[in-house]
Amino acid sequence: MDCLFCKIVEGSIPAKVLMETDNVLVFHDIQPAAPVHVLIIPKKHIASMNDVTAEDLGVIGEMHQAAQQAARKLGVDQSGYRLINNCGPDSGQAVHHLHYHLLGGAKLGALTG
Ligand code: 5GP
Ligand code: ZN
Repeated sequence: MDCLFCKIVEGSIPAKVLMETDNVLVFHDIQPAAPVHVLIIPKKHIASMNDVTAEDLGVIGEMHQAAQQAARKLGVDQSGYRLINNCGPDSGQAVHHLHYHLLGGAKLGALTG
């Protein structure tokens, strides 16, 4: 499948991995938008939040657990961080493999919409 994040999971495209579990991968964003910017993805290909099924709820929970652990590892658990999912064209979703952005390490701007 021609999916960038599946290729990162397979190891055919390199990434700076922060954490890995059986079902979840956390790696640094190639173009960080904040001092701390990692991406949390399921290893299984799920195209977007719209494509999450009841079967995927376990891995969604694991992604949240990984976000909590990543924030701690990166030293932003107390200072604070933001977890963002982009879904669909209006959000600017560019990679069609479900992911959360974890952003922190500085005072973040207000959300706009
Ligand atoms: P989206 O706009 O789909 O929510 O976010 C995709 C994110 O993936 C962007 O923040 C972008 O910088 C990041 N990204 C795109 N290509 C690569 C890559 O090859 N490696 C890594 N580590 N991040 C990438
Ligand atoms: Zn994929």
